Amino acid sequence: MTWRTHAVVGANAVWITAFFSSVDATAFGLLVAGAFAGLLPDIDASARGAKIHYVAEGTFGMFKGVFQHRGFFHSLLAVATVFLLSFWFLRAYHPFLPAILALGYASHPIIDGFNTVGVRYLFPKRERYNLIPKLFRTPVHGFADQLFFIAGSLGIALFVLSYAVNFSFSFGTIAL
Ligand SMILES: [Zn+2]
Repeated sequence: MTWRTHAVVGANAVWITAFFSSVDATAFGLLVAGAFAGLLPDIDASARGAKIHYVAEGTFGMFKGVFQHRGFFHSLLAVATVFLLSFWFLRAYHPFLPAILALGYASHPIIDGFNTVGVRYLFPKRERYNLIPKLFRTPVHGFADQLFFIAGSLGIALFVLSYAVNFSFSFGTIAL
């Protein structure tokens, strides 16, 4: 998937706050955190042979050849690591931050599973997996990519519209 698709889908992790708590102005920060987490797995994109991903390429050139693209950073092991690390270090900032980071992060390999190139979900096992039958898989920029981008964007729009009142109230309070 393209970086913009991963960002908007990851940002939808903010819905956790709506389901398990009340939404306030911190939701904006959590939305950004979800988007960031959704982009994170592609830090392995500069690995040898990866031509289609470009997020953070250059910045993370030090990983070149070390991590295989859609390997460790796209695995269940990485999702668990992100959750445990953020639970340990970031829980104090916001109780939902670890869950939002883990969910935003997990959304990345999940939607990558709709692309033609498989994902090594069970790293260190070498097998690559896809989540849908071969017939329906499309490449990066393809049909699934567009669909997830539109769905993700609508999800964020719906969230912001639903809680606009809370946001303005909170900001009004801050302004005072
Ligand atoms: Zn990816």
